[in-house]
Amino acid sequence: MSTKIWLSSPHMGGEELNFVNEAFAANWIAPLGPNVDGFEVELSGITGVKHVAALSSGTSALHLALILAGVGREDEVICQSMTFSASANPIMYVGALPVFVDSEKDTWNMDPDLLEEAILDRIKKGKKTKAIIIVHLYGMPAKMDEIIAVARKYEITLIEDAAEALGSSYKGIACGAMGNFGILSFNGNKIITTSGGGALISNDEAAVKQARFLATQARDNAPHYEHSHVGYNYRMSNICAGIGRGQLKVLNERVQQRRSNKAYYSKTLGQLPGIKFLDEIPGSMSNFWLTTLVIDPTVSKGVTRENIRLALAADNIESRPLWKPMHLQPVFVGTPAYVNGTSEELFNMGLCLPSGSNLARADLERVTNIICNLFD
Ligand SMILES: *Cc1c(COP(=O)(O)O)cnc(C)c1O
Repeated sequence: MSTKIWLSSPHMGGEELNFVNEAFAANWIAPLGPNVDGFEVELSGITGVKHVAALSSGTSALHLALILAGVGREDEVICQSMTFSASANPIMYVGALPVFVDSEKDTWNMDPDLLEEAILDRIKKGKKTKAIIIVHLYGMPAKMDEIIAVARKYEITLIEDAAEALGSSYKGIACGAMGNFGILSFNGNKIITTSGGGALISNDEAAVKQARFLATQARDNAPHYEHSHVGYNYRMSNICAGIGRGQLKVLNERVQQRRSNKAYYSKTLGQLPGIKFLDEIPGSMSNFWLTTLVIDPTVSKGVTRENIRLALAADNIESRPLWKPMHLQPVFVGTPAYVNGTSEELFNMGLCLPSGSNLARADLERVTNIICNLFD
């Protein structure tokens, strides 16, 4: 059997263990400590966002963002349909109702015109949208000028799910830095990892302070345990933050490596009939966390996304269909959705290729040779 090629696997830089060893030496084995503080400061520097709370996951960051936005029972939250389920699940945690909005074809992220249509239709039905969750899927920045304009026009809190987009930017501003709140993920498959972790980022100092408070069991200031709020155990451990500090030192390299994977795939496969890659729009810079393509079987002489996926799997290579939209997920049956067919078509025809920053040229060639052979 050939060696396994993963979709996206952890890639250590070398300095992570130094930070972890420091934590051991000082016995800071807790969900607070110098690595957590350092990681927050360093993330603030990288994103240009003033305040950062390092948390146990990107999902917990979204949950706290919704709480801070005042979202509660009966409220509605508009969420990009084309995303991973972790964007939408926290809406359920707070007892609110998700409303899904489909994508535009240029970035595969939320369609700003459809967003406005959805807001107006909800208003007509007597519902006011309390927050919007947009996603920079696969690292590709959404059309933020248009999205922000709609959010401002209707005075709705904007939450940016930048879990897949650390290192991406839009008109020079980091993904996650443009909304009222941004969230990041450092799960094992993301562009950098803390083994598991996330962050809430915002220029609203009081909100981030409150996030830290809620994330440490909402302990009021008293010698005994005193609580006037429901709390959560959502802080990042000092050990994980140590891994994160080491990983931040190689973030720029990781972005370049993933971008060069995308360039190689585009160059090698871009001429095949029916294959199209997701490319940047003017002003946007993607970290190309995953390289993604769509294949139109009516043009590709019948080669389908599944043909490619299965041929790769037969050689021990992991690839994955584009994320199945939330409005088509069994768990969200009956949820209001404003659709235009784009995300469903992407799901039917799209594939994520192996995209790790640790892939060698020979690994990429193994992938592209298999795909080219399907067209012979
Ligand atoms: C990974 C991911 C999340 C959740 O992050 P975790 O750290 O795994 O909880 C949220 N949204 C998107 C789009 C993701 O890809």
